[in-house]
Amino acid sequence: MRTIELNKRQELILQIVKDNGPITGEQIAEKLSLTRATLRPDLAILTMAGFLDARPRVGYFYTGKTGSQLFSERIQKLTVKEFQSVPVVVKESASVYDAIVTMFLEDVGTLFVVNDESHLAGILSRKDLLRASMGKQDLESVPVSIIMTRMPNITTCEQDDMLIDVANKLISKQIDALPVVKKVMINEIEKNEIIGRITKTNITKAFVKIATEDMY
Ligand code: ADP
Repeated sequence: MRTIELNKRQELILQIVKDNGPITGEQIAEKLSLTRATLRPDLAILTMAGFLDARPRVGYFYTGKTGSQLFSERIQKLTVKEFQSVPVVVKESASVYDAIVTMFLEDVGTLFVVNDESHLAGILSRKDLLRASMGKQDLESVPVSIIMTRMPNITTCEQDDMLIDVANKLISKQIDALPVVKKVMINEIEKNEIIGRITKTNITKAFVKIATEDMY
């Protein structure tokens, strides 16, 4: 079943609960001249999808939520953790040439730059590397630290953040990717360990997953 497509019987049950709720499963079954057991899967689906709510010893009642309300609630529950991918990093001392090679080999559009302690120091996009390649410098002797966007000007996110908030940041900051970081305190200074990557591709995957998933 798709998110908001209900079959005839489920529509009937929904209407009965709308008109009579709270109502027990037994009473719904009676109205439809069906057994309680026959109805059980439909009631489970309607409850899990959020159309109905069940209270012990009271019965089922209609939540009043429309399919699109439930759809947007589902989207708002998605977390970074569920969709993040593996980060690709280079060291601050790496050359622009090395970064370009890494970007091709790892097939990513954004590289994260780390310092000697492996903490987030900067970020490199495709255009950062293209821009650096336009001059006459020797790409093998220019370190990425010269051209990267550096901390503290990097927009980050954490594993438990909501994916929709990350999507909003990608739009408002006009960027393609965010590092997923874990904050650690070292000598009372906050540092960022890089544990993942969220890009426009991850957001697209989430979009497709939600559109095709079962609600139960
Ligand atoms: P591109 O420049 O290849 O289109 P982006 O739009 O992601 O890719 O990057 C635009 C600029 O923003 C680049 O200079 C890049 O270094 C910087 N940037 C990319 N991601 C971030 C981020 N998460 N936080 C801050 N700056 C970023």
